[in-house]
Amino acid sequence: MKQSQTLIPTLREVPADADIKSHQLLLRAGFIRQNASGIYSFLPLGKKVLQKVESIVREEMDAAGAVEMLMPSLQPAELWEESGRWSTYGPELMRMKDRHNREFALGATHEEVITSLLRDEVKSYKRLPLTLYQIQSKFRDEKRPRFGLLRGREFLMKDAYSFHSNQESLDESYERMYQAYSNIFRRCGLNFRAVLADSGAIGGKDNHEFMVLSEIGEDTIAFSDSSDYAANLEMAAVVTTYTEKEHSGKEIKRIETPDQKTIAEVSAYLEIEAEDTVKSMLFIADENPVLVLVRGDHEVNDVKVKHAMDARIVELASPEQTQSLLSAGAGSIGPAQLPDDITVIADHAVKAMGDIVIGANEEGAHYVNAKLERDFSVSKFADLRFILEGDPSPDGTGTIQFAKGIEVGHVFKLGTTYSEPMNATILDENGRSKPFIMGCYGIGVSRTLAAIAEQFNDENGLTWPVNIAPYDLHILPLNMKDEVQSTTAEELYKLLKDYRYQVLLDDRKERAGVKFADSDLIGMPVRITVGKRASEGIVEVKIRKSGESYEVQKEELTDKLQDIFRQLSNI
Ligand code: ATP
Ligand code: MG
Repeated sequence: MKQSQTLIPTLREVPADADIKSHQLLLRAGFIRQNASGIYSFLPLGKKVLQKVESIVREEMDAAGAVEMLMPSLQPAELWEESGRWSTYGPELMRMKDRHNREFALGATHEEVITSLLRDEVKSYKRLPLTLYQIQSKFRDEKRPRFGLLRGREFLMKDAYSFHSNQESLDESYERMYQAYSNIFRRCGLNFRAVLADSGAIGGKDNHEFMVLSEIGEDTIAFSDSSDYAANLEMAAVVTTYTEKEHSGKEIKRIETPDQKTIAEVSAYLEIEAEDTVKSMLFIADENPVLVLVRGDHEVNDVKVKHAMDARIVELASPEQTQSLLSAGAGSIGPAQLPDDITVIADHAVKAMGDIVIGANEEGAHYVNAKLERDFSVSKFADLRFILEGDPSPDGTGTIQFAKGIEVGHVFKLGTTYSEPMNATILDENGRSKPFIMGCYGIGVSRTLAAIAEQFNDENGLTWPVNIAPYDLHILPLNMKDEVQSTTAEELYKLLKDYRYQVLLDDRKERAGVKFADSDLIGMPVRITVGKRASEGIVEVKIRKSGESYEVQKEELTDKLQDIFRQLSNI
């Protein structure tokens, strides 16, 4: 492609409203432009990169046995009413009416459409398993669209859905998709982890998110420093064993702690360690009040509370509820002398404590020297706290560390969540009717593109990996008015295209400085500079990422490039 014939509007200034690298650089290098908040045009270079990511996704999906199709973005409300999501999905779903006043949604996801399609078209277990996918724009009216392509309101997603007549078949497809996802993100050059994600069931292996490790990620990942264990923070099980502390034998004693509410305040006031206090938090689990106890230096993990209580919904009690149930504010509550209708559960760490400081259920007062069983009782001990850096890894190998991650993909066993309410059934081996068992598998294609840009850049611009770069080579004749330079550049452009390279030729009549700056900014893996020494048949070859450069005779150029690309593709 000749640069004079395409649209690459580079910017020197950093756009004011872009606060992360990938957003700034994709704008500055002329890959994208914003149309409205969270809505973007992909300019020619952006579209090229998108296509590269898409083809990797397609190749791996096809290899895993999935079949591509395309569903409509406009979806009738009736389908969403069947699944129940018309009322539960909330304002993220973009809704509209047609001229006949019929309601529609712009597809945020396609479980309803595909389930209704398969309900009509597949009637027997003999046609299963079947995995279908599409790559298509999705619409979600995000509360806070931000970080450019990372959280858009219109964005490109690959969504796949698998259909099965039994659980084993779903397990197999899930495994295959998991592998395909690992291949995809590896081929994109990304530093990523597959992490266990929340599906309600702690330790469940039926829900993984693929996370690109990045400082700007919105999720925290707990991973082992010496195995491939990784989980979303709230999912990581704590397997620490605690050394028991002896109780002093002293009586429980009420102490005034005026205005001391947080653990830090109370322990500083009493001159004790936070780990000798108990943090008590009141939750409402499906309408039942539950007082949750963790050691003062730990944090309550509400996903684990939900699991321990086998509850559907767990919420922190409101200040009014806390007052009316315990006659004190959240900073002064504790497990002693509680009304009968309040269940007390505690984290394993609490069992090993000696003399304990607890809230007295009275404003501005605490108890010291409290003893478990003597002064308060606990109906159940469980793992209820968030894991911490330095805790042992739940898989038994190594120590936990934290990292931030960007979710680029999600694989999830749906089971019969959609097929049951939507009455999508097949006949099984025994001629009995039963609902499809389903899996769903999403990749944020445009988000992946931004995540790659986030990981591949330096102070001068983007440094695309070979697999993803819009072009392999960027040819820069420094002075277009110089006959030798412009004809050499043209000659190399034709030659290298014949060699099947994707080539961008900067044939603009710009100054050398502008060309270099733009070239660094847009970041093709290899640049060929045609300058003064073109008259001697010599050009400069420079690798964008490493900065290495070579003076090469024209005749040796193709050999040299072959070496370089072999080397670049291996990393
Ligand atoms: P998030 O927690 O980031 O909102 P999600 O759980 O809503 O993601 P899914 O419904 O699982 O996401 O969608 C599948 C994939 O689509 C995600 O893994 C992510 O890569 C991508 N995605 C989701 N929302 C957006 C968005 N607003 N902009 C860009 N990509 C998105
Ligand atoms: Mg979301």
